[in-house]
Order: sequence, then C-alpha cells, then structure tokens
Amino acid sequence: MVRGSPFTRLCQQAARPLRVVVADLHLHTSASDGDFTPDQLAAAAASARLTAIAVTDHDTTAGVRETVEAAGRLRDGPAVVPGVEISASFGGREVHLLGLFVRPDDTALSAALDGICAGRRERFRGFVAGIPELKEAADAGLARLVEESAVSLGRRHVAGLMVRAGVVATRNEAFRRFLGPVARTLPPKPLLPVEEAIRLVRGAGGLASLAHPGQDVGEAELTRLRELGLAAVETAFPAATPGRSSELRGIAARLGLAVTGGSDWHGPGIAGREVGCRGLKAGEWSDLADRAGWGGPAAVLS
Ligand code: AMP
Ligand code: ZN
Ligand code: FE
Ligand code: FE
Repeated sequence: MVRGSPFTRLCQQAARPLRVVVADLHLHTSASDGDFTPDQLAAAAASARLTAIAVTDHDTTAGVRETVEAAGRLRDGPAVVPGVEISASFGGREVHLLGLFVRPDDTALSAALDGICAGRRERFRGFVAGIPELKEAADAGLARLVEESAVSLGRRHVAGLMVRAGVVATRNEAFRRFLGPVARTLPPKPLLPVEEAIRLVRGAGGLASLAHPGQDVGEAELTRLRELGLAAVETAFPAATPGRSSELRGIAARLGLAVTGGSDWHGPGIAGREVGCRGLKAGEWSDLADRAGWGGPAAVLS
C-alpha cells in the first residue's frame, strides 16, 4: 500500500519514470560481450514488459535464434528482432552499424561476420599475450575457457579474464589500467568499410541504422551515409542528452531516415541502465516495423 498524503503520493508518481519505451532495439548477449545468455535476456525483457527487443551483438548473429526461441516460450515474451552491430569504418573513424530485421543466416553477411570474429579472436589472444601480469596470473585453461565462451570476443572478455585471474578487482579497472594502453600496441580491431556493411545488411533483408552517433556525426555525414543506403539513425541511447536526441530526430526527419533506439545493454548492475531504459515509443516502433515490412520473428527464421 502506498503511504502518505494524496500530495506525497502524487509527487511519488511524478518521480517515477513514465513507461513509454515499448521497444529496446540495441541489446547484447553472451554470444558477444553481454553478461546474459539469450534465455536470461528474454526473461529480463519480459520483466521490463517490452513489446519488442532487438538482439544486436557485436559482429555476430549467433545469439538471435536462441533469444527468439526463449522469448517464444515465455507467456508475455517480447517479439525478437534479429539484428547485429557491425564494427565499421567511415571517413577514418570507427562507427557501429546496426543491421535490424536481418536474416541471421544470410550467406554473405555470415561470411563477412565470420571474418571479423576471426580477427577479434586473434586480437583477444594478442591482449592475453601482451599483458605480462595476465600471462603470469591466468593459466592457459582459464584463458581458453573465456575464449570459448563467446563467438565474438571483445575487450570486455579480456577484462573479465583479468578479474577472474585476480589481476584487477573490476572490469573497469582493467579498462582503465591495461586495455587502453595495450590496445595501442596491437593491430587495430577489424572494421568493415561502412558502405560494405550497409550493403551486407540490405542484402540480408535488413534495415541499416547508425548506432550511437558521436558528436562528429552531423547532417552532412548522415546525408552521405543515406546515399550509401543507410535507412535509419539511433536517436535514443544512453549517452545522448535530450538535446542531442532531439537534434538527431530533426536531422532524421529532414533526411527521411527512420529512428531507432535502445539501451546498448551489456549486463545488470548499473543503475539507470536497465533493459528498456532507452528505446522507441509505441508509434515509433510501429512506424519502423512497417517501414521494414516486418512479418515477425518466425518469418525471418523460417
Ligand atoms: P571492443 O568491441 O573489443 O572494442 O570493446 C568495446 C566494448 O567494450 C564496448 O561495447 C563496451 O561494452 C566495452 N567497454 C568499453 N569501455 C568499458 C569500460 N570502462 N568498462 C566496461 N566495458 C567497457
Ligand atoms: Zn559491447
Ligand atoms: Fe556500439
Ligand atoms: Fe552495442
């Protein structure tokens, strides 16, 4: 029972965030560097009462099918949009390209992603070999266990290994003290030219959206990307201030791009960063699904 005077109750209600997000279209699973398995993610999305989620692991669609199946087993499970977040290059910068509504088993897309993941595996081994404190503390078995835990390996896996080996207390500490400096001594992460990433997403029946655009991406850059086949831009994401979100929505409207949004969720434990903390409202979600001509998860996987 809620206690207090009618006025206090009103204040408490006003302080509670309005549940307007129905679709969180940027989520990671343990297929890449997310902490939750597809089953756990589907359950978390159902608890958050989301209508739809997109599984957008870094450079792999390996977690999609399991998440679709897990959500299908839940009474109020969300619709699961098959997706991927491709590491790409655009004008000398690293950008992340979301492919939403893709056929996860598309041959050309899968072949390109396999290539990136092979490079990521090499990079993981480079990190392990390049951090003497880690080489000393972690036996080869532990490193192999982590290496085998995901299809797409990233720095977060190296950080997790360092915590398990007792070199650092938290993953944050690993990033701060080791991963930045060591990364500069290693070959760069494999990136696909953005035009190729867009072409692959479209070839797999998907819609390409630019994830979390940095401040160096404005109308000119988005115009160029639209010419290359970009269909949407992420306007709601944790790092975006309300001002930046509305600026991006304005650009999207002028350029005829759709909008996407999501929490970029990697795991529990960060206040204000829960599944569904960012995303699309009901009207935005139905517009996007219409634009993609989406027939639901079963249509994509069959
Ligand atoms: P990578 O794909 O290997 O370049 O790693 C990028 C990922 O590292 C991002 O998607 C984040 O999930 C994660 N990351 C970056 N900085 C930190 C940090 N300080 N603590 C934990 N995770 C981080
Ligand atoms: Zn990540
Ligand atoms: Fe990203
Ligand atoms: Fe992400």
